[in-house]
Amino acid sequence: MSLVQELRPGRLFLSSLDHDSEIVASITALAESLGVEVGAVSAIGALKRATIGYYDQETHEYRAIEIDRPVEISSLSGNISIRDGKPFLHAHATLADSQGNVRGGHLSSGTVFAAEVFIRELCGRPPTRTHDPTTDLFLWSDGD
Ligand code: ZN
Repeated sequence: MSLVQELRPGRLFLSSLDHDSEIVASITALAESLGVEVGAVSAIGALKRATIGYYDQETHEYRAIEIDRPVEISSLSGNISIRDGKPFLHAHATLADSQGNVRGGHLSSGTVFAAEVFIRELCGRPPTRTHDPTTDLFLWSDGD
């Protein structure tokens, strides 16, 4: 089940997130408030703490990796598409500690120290996430 969706460039947004906000919820709320249904997201900044996930391909469960110390968001890359009728953020991040060592993976949550977000809206028919029995993940389908 592969999907190719042609979309057109839409609006561009730069936004800073509130200190102490939860990053995944904040970017999702930002997309919703801007009316962005599909888009590409990138961000840099710093988090007070974070939880990243590693998807175990055998057990089909996310393993949580807790990072209970301040880190730099050296890279955050993600996308927005529709799941359950609403904008849904899927983001991965590479987080650097005080020594410059990085850990990374699926970004489950993080407490914002400061963050600068760039959203590129894409216009057209939004891909929709539906349950994929092979991977047990919610992957893109064309909604048919
Ligand atoms: Zn992921």
